[in-house]
Amino acid sequence: MNPEFDALFEELNTELYPDCEMSSLKFLAKLLHIKVINKWTNSSFDQLVELLRVAFPKSKIPTSHYEAKKKLKKIGLGYESIHACKYDCALFWKGNDSIQNCLICNESRWVDTTTKGKRVPQKVLRFTAKDMIWHNTGRSTDGMMYHPVDGKSWQEFDKRYPEFAKEPRNVRLGLTADGFNSFGNFNNNYSIWQVILTTYNTPPWIWKHPDYGGKKRKCDNERKKRELNWTKRSIFFELEYWSSLDLKHNFDVIHVSKNVNESVLNIALMNDKSKDKKEARIDLKNMGIRPDQWPKEKVKKMKKHNKKEKKKKEIIPHASYTFKPIDRQRFCQFIKGVRLHDGFGLNIKKQVNDTESNFVGLKSHDHHFLMQRLLPKGVRTCLPPNVSRTTIDLCTFFKKNCERSLDVNDMRNAKTEVVKILCNL
Ligand SMILES: [Zn+2]
Repeated sequence: MNPEFDALFEELNTELYPDCEMSSLKFLAKLLHIKVINKWTNSSFDQLVELLRVAFPKSKIPTSHYEAKKKLKKIGLGYESIHACKYDCALFWKGNDSIQNCLICNESRWVDTTTKGKRVPQKVLRFTAKDMIWHNTGRSTDGMMYHPVDGKSWQEFDKRYPEFAKEPRNVRLGLTADGFNSFGNFNNNYSIWQVILTTYNTPPWIWKHPDYGGKKRKCDNERKKRELNWTKRSIFFELEYWSSLDLKHNFDVIHVSKNVNESVLNIALMNDKSKDKKEARIDLKNMGIRPDQWPKEKVKKMKKHNKKEKKKKEIIPHASYTFKPIDRQRFCQFIKGVRLHDGFGLNIKKQVNDTESNFVGLKSHDHHFLMQRLLPKGVRTCLPPNVSRTTIDLCTFFKKNCERSLDVNDMRNAKTEVVKILCNL
């Protein structure tokens, strides 16, 4: 048996004190957690455990913070730490382990350089060495994709740069940006982008964790009003390998599904954000397609001042892809009546407006959830079969793309499937 596992197992079965329901390991983990979130100092932790040990002499409380950490490290929950430059230029690592100032910007390694006691580093990088080579050891073998390492793009890269690929400790980075306004057309006189840098070396359960943010950096970019789009060459092209990358960038699936679901919902509910307005119907007329959907003039007889008057009114014929008023209400009531279990952590019901004809304040995650789970069920009874079928296919396409594991064959099929869906739409 694995000795690390034995140690973990033993800790799990050790009561904190005789007849206590909590194990000593659980107590230790919780106590360290409280220490971290409240930023207790190590010495305050030591003082607390000392007091606890005096008060509860029969308990298995660790003697100090040092001992507590050592215990966690033994069972594989520890980490390695490397000091880093405050501005992320370099690591004080390997040959640079003894250097006191950053080689690039000359910033001190320590918070307080004059102190005689133990010096505190400005920045520490923590990781488990095992995790950093995970991409080399944890690849999928069953034809499914769980991580970018299982993708074609990664494998092509490895083939092209075998020297780089040979060393599993080499770092593979992913960079994400939000709030990007590439066309400069939102009339903002400034733009601040959030940029997050993460490493793909580690297993997905680490970098998909919401707390595992990389470095956030604000970039200021003021674009002159008259400047043309795409006047700048991305700085990434200065990277030697960039031009040969198969996949240079991709769009965040949550953003895309939000936009798509928003459009589908708006059109189906015929609310004021619907794109299916009179103008769109006039366009159809100008193009000479779908005559049943062209705006029509209806002559309405009205009685006014005891005289009969004829009034012309333009009406937009009902389209098969929008809900009828009664269905609109049925759909909203369906969403309102849905019961979700706790894990979903969202309350879509509250987003249905008072008249039960529209949604208000839906966030990206609500759209994501609506599209994957509720829309396919909701449209089935509210739209004609051929329209609901296509809508359901569209939702299924997004659902497949958002799975934690992707089947390579499924993805190949989805690629042809989406063309059909688009044609049907
Ligand atoms: Zn530096």
